[in-house]
Amino acid sequence: RVNEAQLTHGRVLSVHGRQSKVQADDGRLYACAVRQVLKSLATDQRGVVVAGDRVWFRIEGREGDDGQSGRRADEVVTGDGMIERVEPRHGIICRTSRNKQHVIAANVDALLIIASAAEPGIKPTLIDRMLLTASQHDIEPVIVINKIDLIDPLRLQALVGVYASLGYRVLTTSANTGQNLEYLHAFLQNRQTALAGQSGVGKSSLLNSIEPGLALAVSTVSVENQKGRHTTTASKLIPLARGGAVFDTPGIRQFQLWDIEATEVAGLMPDLRPYVSGCRYPDCLHLHEDDCMVKDAVADGRIDARRYDAYCHLLEDDLLSE
Ligand code: GDP
Ligand code: ZN
Repeated sequence: RVNEAQLTHGRVLSVHGRQSKVQADDGRLYACAVRQVLKSLATDQRGVVVAGDRVWFRIEGREGDDGQSGRRADEVVTGDGMIERVEPRHGIICRTSRNKQHVIAANVDALLIIASAAEPGIKPTLIDRMLLTASQHDIEPVIVINKIDLIDPLRLQALVGVYASLGYRVLTTSANTGQNLEYLHAFLQNRQTALAGQSGVGKSSLLNSIEPGLALAVSTVSVENQKGRHTTTASKLIPLARGGAVFDTPGIRQFQLWDIEATEVAGLMPDLRPYVSGCRYPDCLHLHEDDCMVKDAVADGRIDARRYDAYCHLLEDDLLSE
C-alpha cells in the first residue's frame, strides 16, 4: 500500500531508459525509477512516464548534495526516488514509430507553431497540420512567425488576417531584433509549451533569446542540408527561470498528423466545422461526394477557398496516400 503522506509531488523533466529526472515542486531534482505495478498496467511500455507528467514519488536513500553551484538548477540531481503514481494527462503529443503510437510529451498546455517569414518561407499547409494536431488534443495553439526582420511586415497581413479571423493567436517575432519576445516570454511563463516547426525557422534562437542560460545549438547549416540530420526520440521539459517550461521534443520538429481519421479532419477546422453535420453521408470527406454542405459553402464563399485547398492537401498528402 502506498502511504500518501510520504509522497512528494513533482513533474517529469526527461526519461532515459529506466530512469526519470523528476523536479519536485520545491525545485529539487531526483533520479526516479518507476514502480513495477505501473508498468504492468500500461499498454505502451515506453510511455508509462514521459516528459511533462505530474507524478507522486517516494524519496529514497541519500539526499542533500546541493553543493554543485554554478550549474542550472535542472541539471543537479539531489537524490533518488520511486514514482508511485502518475496523474491523469491532458494535452498529449504522440509520435508514431513502426506503426505504433507513443506518447512523448504530456500535459502540453500550448503549442507554438513556429514558421519563418523567410529562409525558409511560410508553408501554410504545415501550419494547418499543426493546428489540427493541437485542436485534436485540446492544446492551445499560437502561430509564431519569426524572422520578421527579413521582410516588410505588410506582406504578411493577408495570411495573418486569415488565421486571426479564425480565432487563432498570431504573433510575429524576431530573435535577431527582439521584436515581441517580451510578449512571447510572458506567454510561456505559466504553461508547459511545446515548440514545433521546420528546421531553420528559429526555434533554438527564440528560446536562447528568452532564456540565455540555455545555450541551445543554433544551426548554421543551410535548411536544404538538414533533411537527413539525425534526430533522437527523447523529449525533455526545460523549466524557465521566470516560470513555465518548454518541451524540447525532437519528434515534433518535423511534424506529421498522428492517429487521426480522415473523416475527423474537417470537424477540427473551425471554419469547416459548422457545415460538416449537414452533409448527406455521415462519413463524408467533403472531396467528391454529393450533397456536401462543405463544398456548397466553398462554392458560395462562406468558406475561404484557400482554406478548403489546404484541407484537400492535408487529406491527400497525409491521410489518403497510404
Ligand atoms: P531551428 O532549427 O528552428 O532551431 O532554427 P535556429 O534557431 O537554429 O535558426 C536557424 C537560422 O536562422 C540561424 O542561422 C539563425 O541565426 C537564424 N535566425 C533565427 N531567428 C532569426 C530571426 O528572427 N531573424 C533572422 N534574420 N535570422 C534568424
Ligand atoms: Zn461533405
